[in-house]
Amino acid sequence: MTKSDYESLLKRIEKNISNVKTDNRFELPSVEVTWEGKKTILRNFSDFPKALRRDTNLILQYLSKEFAVPAERVGDKAIFTGRRDPEDFTRLFKIYLKDYVECPTCNSPDTKVEKESRVSFLICEACGAKSTIKGKYA
Ligand SMILES: [Zn+2]
Repeated sequence: MTKSDYESLLKRIEKNISNVKTDNRFELPSVEVTWEGKKTILRNFSDFPKALRRDTNLILQYLSKEFAVPAERVGDKAIFTGRRDPEDFTRLFKIYLKDYVECPTCNSPDTKVEKESRVSFLICEACGAKSTIKGKYA
C-alpha cells in the first residue's frame, strides 16, 4: 500500500465515522421545570411525547412509575408530587430513549412501535430491524 492509498483510506474512514454521527441526530428537548409547594411541574411535558414519537399517557405513566409518585397531565404540563430536579427528568428521558426509541441495531431514533398480541416490537425505519421491547411503556 502506498502512502497516498493509505491517506485516501483514512479519509474514507473519517467520512464514514462522520456519517454515523449525523445519522444519530436526535435531540431531546430541554426540560423546563417549576416548583409549586411540594409539587414539580414539568412545563413542556407535551414536547417529549412529540419528540420521542411515543404515546403521551404511556410516557406519563413511565415517569410516574420511575419517580414512584402520582403524576397528572394538565394541558401541555405534567404535575408530579414531590420536588424533582430537571436533571432527574433528563436522566429518565435518556433511559426511555434508549429502551423504547433507539434501534438496538443501528441506534437510529427513527423507529415505531408495533404490537402483536401482547408483545411490543420496535421497528426501525432506518435499517428495518425488528426488536422486542422489554419494558411496558411503549
Ligand atoms: Zn436500525
